[in-house]
Amino acid sequence: MLDNIRIVLVGTSHSGNIGSAARAMKTMGLSQLVLVTPDTEVDGKSVALAAGASDVLANVQIFDSLEEAIALCELVIGTSARSRTLEWPLINARQAGEMVIKESSGQVAIVFGRERTGLTNEELQHCHYHVNVATNPEYSSLNLAMAVQILCYEVRMAYLGNPEPEARHFPDNLDMENFYDHLHEALYEIGFIVPKHPGKVMEKMRRMFNRIRMEQNELNTMRGILTAIIRTAHGKTIKPD
Ligand code: SAH
Repeated sequence: MLDNIRIVLVGTSHSGNIGSAARAMKTMGLSQLVLVTPDTEVDGKSVALAAGASDVLANVQIFDSLEEAIALCELVIGTSARSRTLEWPLINARQAGEMVIKESSGQVAIVFGRERTGLTNEELQHCHYHVNVATNPEYSSLNLAMAVQILCYEVRMAYLGNPEPEARHFPDNLDMENFYDHLHEALYEIGFIVPKHPGKVMEKMRRMFNRIRMEQNELNTMRGILTAIIRTAHGKTIKPD
């Protein structure tokens, strides 16, 4: 179960933080560390700060984009030091731990941002939920590895309290991205999205489908509907008699 949980660090610039994050993970029984476009190498400082968790560092996976890092994940939770203008479902660290454990029969990810700037809005839109660790509102920004520690601790507490994950599976992020491409194409074909003024239609659609969390067969139905829409837009309607 815990092996299905990946900790994703985006654009980390201090190699020591990568080591400290590995240590934070291992103390809580997590082992899947993923880096996205790190701004530093995993170096001696990382190894020193990982202490006994150098095995987590040795198994680190590195990706060129967040999308690739979470492609197979069915649940993605993004962390944020402050609430953004994005209206996205916001949860606390305890709820995040419970949710992650509940869905850990599939792949899940908790995503952490850059030391200075956090996650971009675009990256946050790839997440189902945003989690904010309750802090002093006047000074809310935790050190990256300490945020990793708190989230991993909550995952462990949920694991100890409720070791049975749900059997239900959701489409993974790659399936959802393909769906959004298809939806975009259909909205374009029927003239709802105008290339010069795309507006925020796709952002709104992402927010809505994030909230709904379609199951695989529902996604398949939606794909069929989109195919029919595109076919109709091309004047090739096939109507049953
Ligand atoms: N100024 C940045 C701070 C980034 S802190 C911002 O506003 O986002 C670096 C990373 O640590 C964040 O991207 C997040 O992953 C994590 N983090 C720090 N404080 C946090 C908090 N209170 N709740 C959740 N994550 C936090």
